[in-house]
Amino acid sequence: MSLPFTLLIDPVPVDSERTSFDDTFHEMDSAAPALRVGELSTQRGDGIFETLSVVNGHPQEVEPHIARLRNSAEICDLPVPNPAQWRAAIAYAVARIPHEGELALKIVLSRGVESGPAPTAWLHATTATDFRRVRENGVRVVTLDRGYPRGVAERAPWLLMGAKTLSYAINMAALREAQRRGADDTIFVTTDGYVMEGPTSNVVLRTGGVYVTPAPSGAILHGTTQQSLFEYLRVRGDQVEYRDVPLSELRQADAAWLVSSVRLAVAVTALDGETMRTDRELTQAINSYLLGRTD
Ligand code: PLP
Repeated sequence: MSLPFTLLIDPVPVDSERTSFDDTFHEMDSAAPALRVGELSTQRGDGIFETLSVVNGHPQEVEPHIARLRNSAEICDLPVPNPAQWRAAIAYAVARIPHEGELALKIVLSRGVESGPAPTAWLHATTATDFRRVRENGVRVVTLDRGYPRGVAERAPWLLMGAKTLSYAINMAALREAQRRGADDTIFVTTDGYVMEGPTSNVVLRTGGVYVTPAPSGAILHGTTQQSLFEYLRVRGDQVEYRDVPLSELRQADAAWLVSSVRLAVAVTALDGETMRTDRELTQAINSYLLGRTD
């Protein structure tokens, strides 16, 4: 089967005792219309998603992605996704897409159609962008004010920070602003000067020999790639830490990376125009490890 590959999914309640889900999957022609105009995902960006990497036929970090989908559903008051059904949908797709190279597999759960069947769900697999060069060369980053102080997620849960919602217009606008400023990517900071995350990635830095990432307090996503990376570093005997990171500490770091499921780890080569130190060998080792995951 060629790419893109699209599967519409009839969501099954979380407490269903079903063990087979194939009759809830409907393969679609990716070029044909598949959603109704009244879809709240398209009307309001009201839905959640995950993007997994599939490397040489291996979908990566399936369970952490499904767990995060569930967490996003809880934050957004969406029906809790049935993990067995999503696991089965991913396996169904992987069995039907090419088993060579890097693919991106997106799973989406939408609030559905206003006054209609709800929720709606689908899966879409495409060839991944070729990130080999950027993994090798890194990215120039500018920091951008996210407009909120630290602790906002707890004070204002209706902002849905910490959920991976379909509303990525702000994230995409931030990337365009970074490009206007001559950079490739951005890191959001709180109004009180703490490092948050990138618009599509988490931030990991090395400072004093310790690998640190901002605590996933609720305002940032708990990254599946960052968790894999910490596991890799722990096994190597390195120290890892979740905690608040002032921007001044990031500026002084020995090295920093943006990490995410499909692009994997890319070194930050410059921050707000100042050159950053990089660790080329470690970046290569991290990416080899991330590409080699088979679970
Ligand atoms: N933070 C945001 C806002 C993201 O969109 C993403 C991924 O797209 C991440 C962090 C990294 O998460 P993961 O490593 O699970 O892809």
